[in-house]
Amino acid sequence: MAGETHDVVIAGCGPAGMMLAAELALANVDVAVVERRPDHVLAGSRAGGFHARTIEVLDQRGVADRFLAEGQMVQAGFFGSTQLDTSDFPTRHPYTLALYQNAIERIMAAWIAELPVRIYYGSEVTGFAQDDAGVDVELADGGPLRAQYLVGCDGGRSLIRRAAGIDFPGWEATRSNLIAEVELSEEPPEGVRYDAYGVHGVGPMGDGKTFRAVTTERRLETGSEPTLQDLSAALIAVFDTDFGVHNPTWISRFTDATRQAATYRDRRVLLAGDAAHVHYPVGGQGLSLGVQDAVNLGWKLAQVVDGTSPDSLLDSYHAERHPVAERVLKLTMALTVMQRRDERTQTLVEVVSELAALDEPRRQLTGRHSGLDIRYELGDGHPQLGLRMPDLDLSTADGAVRVFALLHAARPLLLNLGRPGALGVGPWADRVQLIDAAYDGVWELPVLGAVSAPSAVLVRPDGYVAWVGEGDDAGLTDALTTWFGPR
Ligand SMILES: Cc1cc2nc3c(=O)[nH]c(=O)nc-3n(C[C@H](O)[C@H](O)[C@H](O)COP(=O)(O)OP(=O)(O)OC[C@H]3O[C@@H](n4cnc5c(N)ncnc54)[C@H](O)[C@@H]3O)c2cc1C
Repeated sequence: MAGETHDVVIAGCGPAGMMLAAELALANVDVAVVERRPDHVLAGSRAGGFHARTIEVLDQRGVADRFLAEGQMVQAGFFGSTQLDTSDFPTRHPYTLALYQNAIERIMAAWIAELPVRIYYGSEVTGFAQDDAGVDVELADGGPLRAQYLVGCDGGRSLIRRAAGIDFPGWEATRSNLIAEVELSEEPPEGVRYDAYGVHGVGPMGDGKTFRAVTTERRLETGSEPTLQDLSAALIAVFDTDFGVHNPTWISRFTDATRQAATYRDRRVLLAGDAAHVHYPVGGQGLSLGVQDAVNLGWKLAQVVDGTSPDSLLDSYHAERHPVAERVLKLTMALTVMQRRDERTQTLVEVVSELAALDEPRRQLTGRHSGLDIRYELGDGHPQLGLRMPDLDLSTADGAVRVFALLHAARPLLLNLGRPGALGVGPWADRVQLIDAAYDGVWELPVLGAVSAPSAVLVRPDGYVAWVGEGDDAGLTDALTTWFGPR
């Protein structure tokens, strides 16, 4: 691989790296991923699934069914003790998909194997040097690789972030948990237990013999290699027994350290996923954030690499995604506090849970938890502007089609819902698909409810609406230029 060149090199082939590789490959970018692991197999189950907006994002690329076929649809969101039920939200996927991360990564790896993505497994990025024209990516066992852009999707301890000198401000850890996959000699109690330290639980993994155990430690520990003895002691401290724990296949430790990269971009180097933000896993947000970072960045990077758009388009990646993660980090910190159930915090949980059960707060919190409320600041105007495009059932001259099916190839879409032929894309015809269609249902948005039906929408490849027509084409040329390059 010494001296090989690619348009984009991604460090790390976790969920964020794989999603970004898929997005770039769909846009015909020559992309390579460098991954330290020898293959896609993940030690341990790690994340437990993802939420509605992430399922939609995968549906936009036509691959959601692969994940749905293996996972379970559940209502997994909680605020205190109030369930954040998504089932009345206007989406085809009003639920969380419970599916362990090792299965998610297996399915993603199979998907990108169908795309022109080069993966250097068993290879580690050790540094980089950027100049005006590109980046030399140094590898432990060869290289360097040359690329126009380098994206660090290399997890919470990101070497790329550190080597770029990007600050990672936030909050130090106050709490640590052990997580493990083990066999037991005794049956554990069902459900989770809260105490003054946090949450604890042991549950079956579904294979008839393995259990996943999570305990909050009595003292903050930060060592990354916990032992079976540590786990046994932690279980006894909570349950008075370790249930005869034995035969661990995975033991790990995580903390509530919460941090976010001060900038997601330093010239030709960008960050996505845990490399850009880390937080306690309560609420199950990390993997979803990373996948959606990748979907925001992918098409922009592709347009810059092929010269369609100026390099400044990449600044919108930080501008849009940093505030999204900032909000999620706050949500996870609030949820973390509410897991610590000493008597005084218990009263806080009770009051907050009562309030969260009221309809308006529940909708707001559910919108946040599911990611369906994400709105990029694209200016004032129709409420649909900057929000995710709903997956409407459309009628066209060629028959019925879902909006998301029109996004499978990750290309921008101008949807004319008014008089057929009323809109044109002129010089953008090779970049933007123009579809004349009709939709006669109610136009309903998550959290907001019913809104007036637009006469047209310009949908970015990530599924967010960049322009809304309200009877004419005012502002359309500006929006096309901003998002899809000059004429
Ligand atoms: C116990 C637990 C439960 C969780 N539950 C959920 C959940 O339910 N839902 C959810 O959304 N999230 C959850 N998360 C968070 C989720 O696991 C992470 O947010 C997610 O894995 C981040 O993906 P990523 O691709 O950014 O980084 P990672 O998954 O960390 O991937 C980074 C990749 O980069 C590779 N790498 C690192 N350094 C280098 C290098 N120098 N060179 C080459 N390769 C390198 C690593 O080997 C790895 O494959 C949970 C996390 C934990 C610990």
